Amino acid sequence: MSDERDARRAWFEQACVGLHDRYASLQDGEPASYIPELAEVDPDRFAIAAMTVQGERIGVGDCDHEFTIQSISKLLLYGLALETHGRERVLERVGVAPTGDAFNAIELDEATNRAPNPMVNAGAIAITDMVAGATVDERVETMRAMYERYLGRTPTIDRTVWASERETGNRNRAIAYLMLSRGIIEDRVEETLDLYFAQCSVLVTAHDLALIGATIANHGVHPLTGEQVVPREVTRDMLTVALTCGMYDYAGEWAFSVGIPAKSGVGGGILGMLPGVGGLATFSPRLDDIGNSVRGLRVFEQLSHHFDLHLFDPDRPWTR
Ligand code: GLN
Repeated sequence: MSDERDARRAWFEQACVGLHDRYASLQDGEPASYIPELAEVDPDRFAIAAMTVQGERIGVGDCDHEFTIQSISKLLLYGLALETHGRERVLERVGVAPTGDAFNAIELDEATNRAPNPMVNAGAIAITDMVAGATVDERVETMRAMYERYLGRTPTIDRTVWASERETGNRNRAIAYLMLSRGIIEDRVEETLDLYFAQCSVLVTAHDLALIGATIANHGVHPLTGEQVVPREVTRDMLTVALTCGMYDYAGEWAFSVGIPAKSGVGGGILGMLPGVGGLATFSPRLDDIGNSVRGLRVFEQLSHHFDLHLFDPDRPWTR
């Protein structure tokens, strides 16, 4: 590593430490409470993690603390669907337009008879329906293998969260049956919902998210193993929908102020991707009304601002 890279790394790390200190006292927002397991998490946990496309790692705070990936899974499953079925077949069922509505809105694109985009629940359930496999076991295995390629280990599912999601997920059920009635998904709704709930219940850490982000930012090549985890051309589409739809109905403001393709989850994680540079992740369970981590938003805003990380910043550094 060159001296210049070392210096940049130290500078960035220092900034992360400073932001962690500064926002640790920020107590705004509440952990998700639609299921008891999420309401019971320790709200004070806080982590900032980063990994470059060269595999250098930075971590401040609770970077090894596990939490459920929740909606961040939508991005990975979208990549898998594009890889398996190709863009055209995916676009037949799921569009790419941001909705400006809540992620769990019971809403389809009526004109085209599609789910609006893959980052809202309707789109994510339609994408989950496309997970390949003749039986439910094969489909679970397909999903498991995908996670394993990113994480470098067999994913652990939080089974209590999974069961709770299944028991309480009637809104998602309503969305899925609406899509079945329109012929958007196949007639195996409970099985597909179960897979959807399982993918949301996978446990990750902030370090894991930074690694996933670095892989996608590295055009699909895992920075540590060199494996092509997801095809190069697919990462372009993943990054695009992350930028336009990844932060729920805050996506427009996020694109404007932060400008980093990202996906958040109600478990408290935010996964950011800096194409050609690396992955950036935060974890803090207190959420705002939209469902985004309050401290996470602040950290991303500050880092984007201080290091000119906005995708369209004329001074955006560090690309190769
Ligand atoms: N399991 C949650 C749901 O489907 C995921 C939501 C999220 O992270 N936005 O409602």
